[in-house]
Amino acid sequence: AKALGRSRYHVFDPSMHQSVLRRLELENDLRRAIEREELQVFYQPIVDLSSGRIVAFEALVRWFHRKRGLVSPAEFIPVAEESGTIHAIDLWVLQSACRQLQQWQKVGAIDSKLSVGINLSAITFLRPHLTEEIRRIVTDLDFDPERLKLEITETAILENKDLAQAKIGELQQCGIKISLDDFGTGYSSLSYLHELPVNTLKIDQSFIRRMDGNPQNRDLIPAIITMAHTMEMEAIAEGIETQGQLNQLRKLACNCGQGYLFSAPLDAPSTQDLLASQPRW
Ligand code: C2E
Ligand code: CA
Ligand code: CA
Ligand code: CA
Repeated sequence: AKALGRSRYHVFDPSMHQSVLRRLELENDLRRAIEREELQVFYQPIVDLSSGRIVAFEALVRWFHRKRGLVSPAEFIPVAEESGTIHAIDLWVLQSACRQLQQWQKVGAIDSKLSVGINLSAITFLRPHLTEEIRRIVTDLDFDPERLKLEITETAILENKDLAQAKIGELQQCGIKISLDDFGTGYSSLSYLHELPVNTLKIDQSFIRRMDGNPQNRDLIPAIITMAHTMEMEAIAEGIETQGQLNQLRKLACNCGQGYLFSAPLDAPSTQDLLASQPRW
């Protein structure tokens, strides 16, 4: 038995074994996470760079696992995508965030124009009856669909360009807005952009991070912003962490910004406290 045990260790790297087990456990627990109320929506402010005021929030899901504590979305979203639970999670986040905005509006914490960005995985976005499902959620909550912005990535679009284009049109028919997330990280961004009627480009944080560095990277940002404006899109810079980055982005007439300089994503009560302090950057 001892010899067998040893030979087994030759085949299975114990650390790999651990991560496979962890993944299986997460996959199992994720199916129950919604009903066990382990998921929470956090909110990160999106700031209008000309007024310095909060004009929107991005909803970011958090999983507080009863044994493992906080599990990052970078780890569990891919698991949810592979195990077929992502659609339920994305729509749960959408519903929770709309309900939260309604409540904040009722107590006067926000006005009726403040919007919310919801991340949709490619799988969710390409689902056959997505528009109907979202329409039902917002109708039930009496939530204005004009305040809803769906954040999708190029991956979602590149899988099937015609379908994606039709889907975007369908959602926009209901008043819903579309943002292209992580813009600039894909392969063929520029070549297909003119065929896509998205409302907003979210410039990936990797570009913002490199702003202070060499001019070659720096020059890409004004090009992206100009292009967005030419196509009547709004530009949002993600991952702003320094005052220097903010100053430069303001000079470039970037419409909005998001990042730790303003605030990290916060739970609902802390977000309401932040709103009450009426911050201005
Ligand atoms: P993302 O959509 O690109 O979201 C932005 C990520 O950057 C968030 O990470 C946010 O916390 C982080 N971030 C914000 N400001 C800064 C900054 O100044 N510096 C740095 N270094 N990071 C910043 P988070 O919350 O861990 O989410 C990671 C990713 O998980 C998201 O990337 C998104 O792709 C995915 N995700 C989050 N919530 C959902 C969801 O409800 N549904 C789906 N399908 N995906 C989600
Ligand atoms: Ca996003
Ligand atoms: Ca992003
Ligand atoms: Ca991302």
